[in-house]
Amino acid sequence: MDAFSQPVKILAVDDSAVSRKLVEHSLLGDRYSVVFAKDGREALELFAEHRPAVVITDWDMPDIGGLELCKRIRREFQGSYSHLILLSGNTDKEHVVEGLAAGADDYLTKPFHAGELVARVEVGCRIVELHRQIQAKNRLLEEMALTDSLTSLPNRRALDVWAPRQLSAAGRHGFPVWVVLADLDLFKKVNDAFGHDAGDTVLKSFAQILAANTRQSDICARLGGEEFLLMITHADKKNTKMVVERIRQQFENKKFTFGNSTITVTASFGIAGFCVTKPPDLNALVCRADAALYAAKNNGRNRIEFELAPRETGV
Ligand code: GH3
Ligand code: MG
Ligand code: MG
Repeated sequence: MDAFSQPVKILAVDDSAVSRKLVEHSLLGDRYSVVFAKDGREALELFAEHRPAVVITDWDMPDIGGLELCKRIRREFQGSYSHLILLSGNTDKEHVVEGLAAGADDYLTKPFHAGELVARVEVGCRIVELHRQIQAKNRLLEEMALTDSLTSLPNRRALDVWAPRQLSAAGRHGFPVWVVLADLDLFKKVNDAFGHDAGDTVLKSFAQILAANTRQSDICARLGGEEFLLMITHADKKNTKMVVERIRQQFENKKFTFGNSTITVTASFGIAGFCVTKPPDLNALVCRADAALYAAKNNGRNRIEFELAPRETGV
């Protein structure tokens, strides 16, 4: 059984009914769930359907032979690793070399010893299980590398991966994109007065409000410190303002109690956008939103500013 106590899936491929029976007898019991194919073409179909951990394939078959089958599995199913065992009556070393070069992991000569086949299948199970563990860990690491650990929002790296795709899609299909830069107001004072943990609580709360007011298709990321970026697509200027205003108000109304004090914190927002023009790159848009944010800070904080008139896009 694998890590989840499910039977291990095995695909056995042979054009000879007698050989298939021999493999079946070797692998009796609850540990394995074996599906059988009579030729290479059927094997490819069953492989796609079942993604078996181990494939045991005959070498000589009409249509797609074992060698070709190994090559095709390696070429066409690169995302999932299976252990491929070639069975052949040919004991020539050149044959073994050719089989392994085609993508097989192991080579067994017929007539095979049932115990040896099981032992080699078990080796395959171990390798495949390790492979799956590494893949799962890699996925987790990838996710962690793209996530801000404090707020669980996507981080700057995630934005750098996601935003260029979104910007080029906007250029191609002509939908508007707004970049909203948000920065907490006088946040240093919160840390100074109530400590870093209190500051972290405020950051998490702001992140939650951002996420709750953002569509799945839009991204909101923590750029670092107390600065966040929200990218809104398929919305006109009025709707964008409405979304950001709702966020501003929700945050302004949120009360934080630290020790004996109850406080509120605000945020300022700078917005830049474009539509139906050649999309600027992310950095250019962020710079323009940053200039608007600077204006929001200068104009008294806790407010929203769009970039200035010469940049108006009319969307
Ligand atoms: P302004 O309204 O002009 O933006 O003033 P400000 O005080 O918010 O800006 P400033 O850049 O002077 O201070 C930002 C503060 O954010 C200083 C830094 O200690 C704090 N900060 C940055 N990252 C974190 C964090 O992860 N946790 C906490 N608690 N504080 C952070
Ligand atoms: Mg600030
Ligand atoms: Mg700042």
